[in-house]
Amino acid sequence: MSETGIPKTYDHRAVEARLYEEWERTGAFVADPNPEKPAYCIVLPPPNVTGALHMGHALNGSIQDTLARRARMKGYEALWLPGVDHASIALQNVVERKLLREEGKTKWEVGREEFIERCREFADEARGTMLGQLRRLGASVDWRRLRYTMDEKYIDSVLTAFIELYNDGSIYRGTRIVNWCPRDRSAISDLEVNYEDTDGKLYGLRYPFSDGEGPGPDGDEFVQVFSTRPETMLGDVALVVNPEDGRYKGLVGRRVTVPFVGREIEIYADEHVDPDFGTGVLKVTPAHDLNDFEIGGRLGLEPVNVLNPDGTMNENGADFAGMDRMESRKAVAARLGEKGLLGEVKEYRHRVGHCDRCGTVIEPWLSEQWWVAMEGLARPAIEALEKGEIRVYPDSWRRETTRWLENIHDWNVSRQLWWGHRIPVWYGPNGETVASKESPGEGWEQDPDILDTWFSSGLWPFATLGWPEENEDLGYFYPTSLLSTAREIMYLWVARMIMMGLRFRNKVPFEKVNVHSIVLAEDGTKMSKSKGNTIDPLDLFEEYGTDAVRFGLLYQSSTQDFAYSYERAAMGRAFVTKLWNATRFVLNYPEGGEGGEMSVSDRWVLSEFNRTAREYDRLLEECEFSEAMRLIYGFAWNQFADWFIEIAKAAPSPETPRVLREVFIGTLKLLHPVMPFATEEMARLMGEEGPLARGSFPAFDSSLEDSGADALLGRTRRAVSAVRSFRAESKVDGELAGRVVGEVDPAVFTGLSGVKLVGSMDGDATATLPAGDVVVEVSLSEEMRRGEIDRLRKEISRVEGEVRRAEGKLGNAKFVERAPADVVSAEREKLQTNGRMLETLNVRLEGYL
Ligand SMILES: [Zn+2]
Repeated sequence: MSETGIPKTYDHRAVEARLYEEWERTGAFVADPNPEKPAYCIVLPPPNVTGALHMGHALNGSIQDTLARRARMKGYEALWLPGVDHASIALQNVVERKLLREEGKTKWEVGREEFIERCREFADEARGTMLGQLRRLGASVDWRRLRYTMDEKYIDSVLTAFIELYNDGSIYRGTRIVNWCPRDRSAISDLEVNYEDTDGKLYGLRYPFSDGEGPGPDGDEFVQVFSTRPETMLGDVALVVNPEDGRYKGLVGRRVTVPFVGREIEIYADEHVDPDFGTGVLKVTPAHDLNDFEIGGRLGLEPVNVLNPDGTMNENGADFAGMDRMESRKAVAARLGEKGLLGEVKEYRHRVGHCDRCGTVIEPWLSEQWWVAMEGLARPAIEALEKGEIRVYPDSWRRETTRWLENIHDWNVSRQLWWGHRIPVWYGPNGETVASKESPGEGWEQDPDILDTWFSSGLWPFATLGWPEENEDLGYFYPTSLLSTAREIMYLWVARMIMMGLRFRNKVPFEKVNVHSIVLAEDGTKMSKSKGNTIDPLDLFEEYGTDAVRFGLLYQSSTQDFAYSYERAAMGRAFVTKLWNATRFVLNYPEGGEGGEMSVSDRWVLSEFNRTAREYDRLLEECEFSEAMRLIYGFAWNQFADWFIEIAKAAPSPETPRVLREVFIGTLKLLHPVMPFATEEMARLMGEEGPLARGSFPAFDSSLEDSGADALLGRTRRAVSAVRSFRAESKVDGELAGRVVGEVDPAVFTGLSGVKLVGSMDGDATATLPAGDVVVEVSLSEEMRRGEIDRLRKEISRVEGEVRRAEGKLGNAKFVERAPADVVSAEREKLQTNGRMLETLNVRLEGYL
């Protein structure tokens, strides 16, 4: 403890726990419709209930909290609405793995109802952990409004939206090719398929002619086609060639037989066939390939499905029925070989889709699914984006999202999973189909599928505010002010919220979208559990303090991804310490007397603070977090702590105590949204009334701008710095005498430089110290003059040595030829710099001789 009664060091652990509990208990983050205030609203992108928060959450949480707290301090009724997503496929996978690990059972063995119960239990537990982590981050969310995509009211919103879209014809049932995960036995989104270059084989498959017209144009008794998936040939319904392909003119219209199944198929011409791929003949397997599905459709051929949902061959697979797709791939090739129908087999590296959740190779598979017709939903969203109704930071993402919407396909929203919102469609005993929240009665069966997670989260900005109920919250807080998100979910989520918002509320869901960076591991690679390079934000909070980590993350944040730097957290921690020491200084500073005028430096620091406040606020408004952090850090550390505190010690005015306190409290307020805990604690120690969390944000005041004071203090600081460097280089302590050419604040200059200003300098040796637009001349005693001469001579000979060394190197033809270009140019640059330094040193030396 010091004389002020405040601890010498700041204990973040104790302060953070105490303050968060207090904020929560006193309702500091509560927001309700208030006609006297403008509304500000951010909905938290609901984290998946599957696990702990990671560094991306810590960054995005820091961004949102900074903006929500700032808005609250600026007089908005600011709601930051928290919530959690049930994360259908992700959670189902986690629970499945757990079940297998702990009980050796599959979901099929446990049964649908019991399995859903397990998912619910798991989610409830994980939710608690995650919400605790949000508290540790300092999130100023209104906890009374916590929403969950599986709570009763939310489920009602989801079913309402589905039924409305169903009834207006936007949702329909259709049989199409989907991305099928045989492990999950479900369709998954296009956006959840990861394409990876994979080593495979290209097999030459031979189809014997069956039309009795003898060999083909090249004399062969068969037609050869290359494919990576021989097992799918059992589902072939045609072969196609390009009509322009001269080699195969005679093939069109002839018939071949599909081996094993004995189906006779025709050879057609189709202009979409690439003559340069493989043999230029393509097999058409409409049930197992998107392109083939389209070709088959044009030819009017019925698809033949050869796979079961679990990836085994079905009854259309002849002798291979029951075999897994990968096994049957080898078996079909081997049996073709035996029949003499296997051509060349080549190694082939190609892009293969894998399930984002479980890594299984995706099968393009024909199945009956629920679809949302997207064209009508996308059009208003495109218009809104083009008109700039939503501002996106950075703007390139607005254009990317528009382009994606322009090329959108209908959305498969059904999933053959269990954990999620069950599709509210019922099939009646007489073949009726209706969409209804509840069973229409006896004998009706509900569709077994559930909805894609992104269908429910697409409603997030208004379903969380109570929609479909027309309540006050919705009228007041919608459209929300800002959404901050990672770029990976721009299409999956953000674009869909825009479409759904326009469809159901007739207004875009948010005014701004901030697309934040991805936090990479220290070495610049992606963080992943399997690589073991993840960082737990809670460990960082513990070690550096939450404020320090938040500051460091925002300092690094940009439109680019960044490698996490522990140094930035350490920088944040040092910043907190600097502010803590400033608190102690300001508290110990003597009270001011009555009356009196402000000094130039008082006016300067007020002017500087005021300008910082304006620029900082603008940067936060534009989501330029890193720039904002640099600015406020520079002001607080440099201008305020390093300069003004020193001035306050050396050359105070009667008004300095007031100004010192005012600017310091103002700085704490500017920093509060970023570093809520430490600033709250410091303001409290300073005797500030009421919590900063509900306090006011410093507003720009043009009357405090003082360009005269800025210019004068600018020159004064440069002059002081010039003397300080001279003292450091020449090792000169104690008082000096001198004068300044150019106007400075004499009290501040003398107080900080230790140079007494004198009228004339005649007779003495003089050191001339240029400092931009001012020049400081310092008198030297005979002893100092000799000391300087010695020092300068030594320095000159050292630099001369450097110059000779560089000249020697550059004079060596071998070095210039063989060394890397950047090494040579660095050497040239060094030589130039040293040459200039030598000139300066010689001029100075002459001045002393
Ligand atoms: Zn999967």
